[in-house]
Amino acid sequence: MRDHALAAVYPGSFDPMHLGHVDIIRRAWEIFPRVIVAVLQNTDKAPLLAVSTRVDLIARSLADLPGVEVTSFSGLLVDFMRHSGARVILRGMRAVSDFEYEFQIALMNRRLWSEAETVFLTPNEEFTYLSSRVVKEIWQLGGDVSGLVPPPVHAALQALPR
Ligand code: ADP
Repeated sequence: MRDHALAAVYPGSFDPMHLGHVDIIRRAWEIFPRVIVAVLQNTDKAPLLAVSTRVDLIARSLADLPGVEVTSFSGLLVDFMRHSGARVILRGMRAVSDFEYEFQIALMNRRLWSEAETVFLTPNEEFTYLSSRVVKEIWQLGGDVSGLVPPPVHAALQALPR
C-alpha cells in the first residue's frame, strides 16, 4: 500500500472555523487515514482571530474526530505538503460560484508540484450558504452565530469585543 498517497491536507483561513468546514473534515476523516487541517498564515489580511487561536479552536472543535492533525503553515501549500508527506489537497465545493477559483488553484498547485491532487467534497446542503465572511459579518452586527460555528468557536467569539 502506498500510504503517502492517502494523507490529505485541508488548507484554509478558518477565520473563524464554521460548521461547513467541520462537515468537510468529518467527511474526509471517514475516507482518508490521515487528515491535516492547515491554517494559512496570511500576513495580508487583518484577521479576526490570531492563527494560534484558530489552530487551538479547530483542534478543540474536532475532539470527536481522533487523529485529525491541526497545524499552521506559511508559504506555498505544495511545500508544506512535501514536508508533511501529503499529496491530496481537500477543498470544499459549495456552489458553482466556488468552481472557477478552485479550478484555477487546483491546476496551479499541480503545476507547482505534479504529484498534488485536489479532491473536492460537498457539504450537507444546510451548510452551502456558510462562509467565514458571513459568520464574521453576522457576529460583528450582534447576530447569533451559535448555530453556525462549533461551540468552542462560539465561546471565543462571545469573549471578543465587537
Ligand atoms: P471560507 O470560504 O469560509 O472563508 P476558507 O477560506 O477557510 O473558508 O476555506 C477553506 C476551504 O473550506 C475552502 O475549500 C472552502 O471552499 C471550504 N469551505 C468554506 N465554507 C464551506 C462550506 N460552507 N461548506 C463546504 N466547504 C466550505
